[in-house]
Amino acid sequence: MGHVGIIGGGVTGLAAALSLSKIGFQVTVFESDSTPMPASPEEAFNWNRRGAPQVRHSHALLGRLHNLLRDFHPEVLKMLLDVGATEIDLAQHMPDTLDDLSRHPEDRDLFMIAARRTTFEWVLRQIVMSNADVVIRTGERIRGLVATEGDIPEVQGLVFDDGGSEFFDLVIAANGRRSQVPEWFKALRIELPEEVEDTGIVYYSRFFRILEEQELPVSDRLIAGDLGYLKYGVFWGDNRTFSITLATSDKDKTFWGVRDPEVFDRVIREIPAASEWVSLGADPITPVHSMAGLLNRRRSLIGESGVVIKNFHMIGDALVCTNPLYGRGCSTGFWQAHLLAKAIEHNRNDSIAQAEIFSQDIDEHILPWYQASVDSDRSNRELENGVPSEGATRKSILQNGLLPATQTSAKVWRAFMRMMNLLAPPKSLNEPEIMADVLEIWEKRGERPAPPPLGPERDEMIDLLGLKEIA
Ligand SMILES: Cc1cc2nc3c(=O)[nH]c(=O)nc-3n(C[C@H](O)[C@H](O)[C@H](O)COP(=O)(O)OP(=O)(O)OC[C@H]3O[C@@H](n4cnc5c(N)ncnc54)[C@H](O)[C@@H]3O)c2cc1C
Repeated sequence: MGHVGIIGGGVTGLAAALSLSKIGFQVTVFESDSTPMPASPEEAFNWNRRGAPQVRHSHALLGRLHNLLRDFHPEVLKMLLDVGATEIDLAQHMPDTLDDLSRHPEDRDLFMIAARRTTFEWVLRQIVMSNADVVIRTGERIRGLVATEGDIPEVQGLVFDDGGSEFFDLVIAANGRRSQVPEWFKALRIELPEEVEDTGIVYYSRFFRILEEQELPVSDRLIAGDLGYLKYGVFWGDNRTFSITLATSDKDKTFWGVRDPEVFDRVIREIPAASEWVSLGADPITPVHSMAGLLNRRRSLIGESGVVIKNFHMIGDALVCTNPLYGRGCSTGFWQAHLLAKAIEHNRNDSIAQAEIFSQDIDEHILPWYQASVDSDRSNRELENGVPSEGATRKSILQNGLLPATQTSAKVWRAFMRMMNLLAPPKSLNEPEIMADVLEIWEKRGERPAPPPLGPERDEMIDLLGLKEIA
């Protein structure tokens, strides 16, 4: 039996601890945030998670994550449901305008989880803590790696902030988007291959709680949309909570005022799909949290001559992170932890083979989502800048072909839902049988009456809010 040291006790670090403990490893997780474990999900909502500030924002928990829990960690799913999360059965919310409303066997995979990110992490930590083979040490920040020198340095342990160190058979960095691995590698003279692209957005989220007697305003209206200058999404949480996120361009200073709760609430009142949630009786339970500096970034531990370091892996946002707008990070992070545990299980004493297999899995399963995120962000930027391009055509096909087709063709609805939930790759929507339906609708876009607007145009919104245009 080996002893694994995991740096970071966020979703991905905990997921790796869970999977590795089930295949016979002893695991110690080091989490720099020193906050003690809260007693309940409600307390966890106010958790001081400075090391992962995104926990204050809306989180979609997608089908891929739901199914990994259902199939490999049912105790986590059960506890989530016991503490107030719900499973969203997407087939139950098919638009009734579809050409076929029958359920298909594969719809058993089309389930999302409605829970706040803090509730999910709290449950995960509870389950992991109850495992005798895992120790979670909070308030312990890792400062570097103990490693041998040589062509391929071999990691032997971890260095702590106080200068002390401990030895491990294997180390996994799951320390998030602000991972310090690049600096640690510099000290070991290792080049860490990396590709970065700024998303150019600022994220604003506010949570609400529906009054006790109120039903969720479930409708067939899309609860995410793009007004061009502002994107919005409504996210179901647990225990009658929901959150609304607005995202603007980080260059659009006029809308930076959205951080003000009063301005935020006025904006959502102008967006029908969002306002129906708040207008039925819901109280805000947080201020408006904002976050900028959001990146698409991928790294790799395989250089030109192969694996660059032994006894060391990276997972989660530290390895691949994508624009949060697409709501995929926790699901792809959990998936990465699952894939890494499998690679380790089949090559227990060979970290090079583990890294090679894991890297192939990342290429096959995770990087298509990274690329989709980068491509979609580029198209958005081109549109914002008025550049006529292939990206702009793709966006028009999405808005005037694919999205309307999800309201009429059951085949397209299912393909779209499977893709959005990471159950089919991004390219699955280009399959000829799907594309035929989408293009047929797109080509007739001029013949249809314009759909009702998702919300006001930019100038109108500026007038409604009494904002001043800032250049
Ligand atoms: C605004 C925003 C909204 C998002 N919305 C969604 C969404 O809707 N759905 C979704 O699935 N994903 C979403 N994401 C992405 C998701 O939050 C991340 O992908 C996910 O948290 C990654 O998990 P992780 O465990 O890799 O990193 P994190 O959750 O960031 O955890 C890393 C942990 O490592 C700790 N740490 C860091 N350095 C050290 C160190 N040296 N020593 C010890 N501990 C350390 C940190 O304190 C932290 O707890 C969003 C992200 C952002 C920014």
